[in-house]
Amino acid sequence: MKDCLFCKIIAGEIPSTKVYEDEHWFAFRDISPCAPIHVLLIPKIHVKNILDFTEETSTYFSNFFLIVKKIAEQEGLEESGFRLVMNTGEQSGQTVFHFHAHIIGGKEMGWPPFPVQE
Ligand code: 5GP
Ligand code: ZN
Repeated sequence: MKDCLFCKIIAGEIPSTKVYEDEHWFAFRDISPCAPIHVLLIPKIHVKNILDFTEETSTYFSNFFLIVKKIAEQEGLEESGFRLVMNTGEQSGQTVFHFHAHIIGGKEMGWPPFPVQE
């Protein structure tokens, strides 16, 4: 899609540090990492976010968790674990409207990720 930052990264029009690629998926390092490992996994089709999903999208995503697992293992996170985040919509903090999963690891993380209101 024209004017989409992540479509441009897939097309190689904007440089990125690639960590994984296959027919359907592309993964690269976040430009502003919040942990020692911070990878963004994106589909090669333009989907805004989970709320943009259709039956067709769902089929495309059928191996999504296997790809996440493959990248986590490749990054050496199988012992320590990792966090998988998919911000969906503006209130959640989504800033780039091409679906992406954050794979974050390599440090202790607290939960919840924000102060809980009484
Ligand atoms: P969101 O806030 O939408 O969940 O996540 C977008 C992520 O994309 C952010 O973590 C941000 O640092 C990352 N990002 C934004 N622009 C670029 C870029 O040009 N290159 C890379 N590698 N990451 C980017
Ligand atoms: Zn896109």
